[in-house]
Amino acid sequence: MKVYYCILFFILGSVLASFYGVLATRAPLNKSIVKPRSHCDFCNHVLSWYELIPIFSYFFLQGKCHKCKAKLPIYEPIVELVMGILFMGSYLYFGFCYEFFVSLFLISLLVLIFISDIKFMIILDSPLVVTSIAVFLLKWYYFDFQAALNSFFAGIILFLFMLFIGFLGKKVFKRDALGGGDIKLSFVIGITLGVTHAFAALVLSTFLALPYATFSLFATNEHELPYGPFLVSALCVVFLYFDKFSSLLNALQFL
Ligand SMILES: [Zn+2]
Repeated sequence: MKVYYCILFFILGSVLASFYGVLATRAPLNKSIVKPRSHCDFCNHVLSWYELIPIFSYFFLQGKCHKCKAKLPIYEPIVELVMGILFMGSYLYFGFCYEFFVSLFLISLLVLIFISDIKFMIILDSPLVVTSIAVFLLKWYYFDFQAALNSFFAGIILFLFMLFIGFLGKKVFKRDALGGGDIKLSFVIGITLGVTHAFAALVLSTFLALPYATFSLFATNEHELPYGPFLVSALCVVFLYFDKFSSLLNALQFL
């Protein structure tokens, strides 16, 4: 039975990854996600079903468009493979429980934010809303309504805190220091982790971003940094090692 679930979640992850690829590259440009149908970006040839199978199509077509022979982007099958592995890994690591179902939403958020924030410097609202509602309902179902409500308030606290940091940043640097998407994302961090762990995730995200920020400042003179990928990565790390962070916060006397 376990093997079947592994296969099932692997397929679910890779199919969703190919859908997220479409969502994260079309929605920021306000394009419909259903029309036009998936096509080759070079010759506009509409893809048939056998050109749309996650992972396999790429190898079957030898990485080229079937019509015009243009090279297909290699990152697509890689993302599909990685997300399939992450979904399957989550099942093996957690089994069927609260953490497992939340992790499926977090992995989805991770993939979507990596694509849309790096490509367009945009974090879509829809995945943030879906994840927040899912976490609230799962918390209610697995724990109780009070726990879900507490999580909701933790989300509000984080949101207001980041709003304040953004406001402060604007006063000091005279420009938007934090994107609106980053502020909304911090609501998801709060509702998922609770206040103390969420603040640990914020601290972790700055550590994750620091090497990249320093590099891009000196190497490319680029001042705008997509912060979403670091925030969502920190969220996932703290969620995965929640107990380890509890002991750490305890040792530092924050809990
Ligand atoms: Zn083509």
